[in-house]
Amino acid sequence: MSPADLKALVRTVPDFPEPGIQFRDITTLISSGPGFAASVRLLAGQAKAAGASAIAGMEARGFIFGAAVAAELGIGFLPVRKPGKLPIATLGMDYALEYGSDRLEIDPGAVVEGDRISIVDDLIATGGTAITATELLRQAGAQIAHAAFVIDLPDLGGATRLRDIGIAVDSIMQFEGD
Ligand code: AMP
Repeated sequence: MSPADLKALVRTVPDFPEPGIQFRDITTLISSGPGFAASVRLLAGQAKAAGASAIAGMEARGFIFGAAVAAELGIGFLPVRKPGKLPIATLGMDYALEYGSDRLEIDPGAVVEGDRISIVDDLIATGGTAITATELLRQAGAQIAHAAFVIDLPDLGGATRLRDIGIAVDSIMQFEGD
């Protein structure tokens, strides 16, 4: 399946979770076996070309694609979690959202010093989530040189922000506007 075929499987839901947001819903993409498999193969090819030795994915939709990419490549998966989920001492970081704030946490012991991690998530918008994950993983000793997303919303600038902190960014498809 081509990126255009995969894009046609993404459902756009207007005004969710709030007025003015076009929600790009991957539920319809992953419920297609060929669509999910092709998406994972494309992301895995991008991570492999970037020399990834491990994959990190952000809870929750980054787990769907990130874990599948790691299994496809036969390398480890590192979950970047929402707060309060891990049963051990975590490394955590708060970050600002458009309204309010959020937090991500990792198990610092899951990072092997010098690991070359590719970040995988379903979508990059402002980049706040991916930049926070990058900073956390770098604090834990990982090298982050690459991130791969199913969907990029280029008008929101996240991919540019990631490139500005030294990360090569790949995506399968782009949606103009927000
Ligand atoms: P950001 O931190 O702004 O790059 O936002 C990325 C995260 O928010 C991703 O994990 C997405 O799952 C989610 N997200 C942001 N905007 C949208 C959107 N328009 N449609 C679907 N998910 C979104």
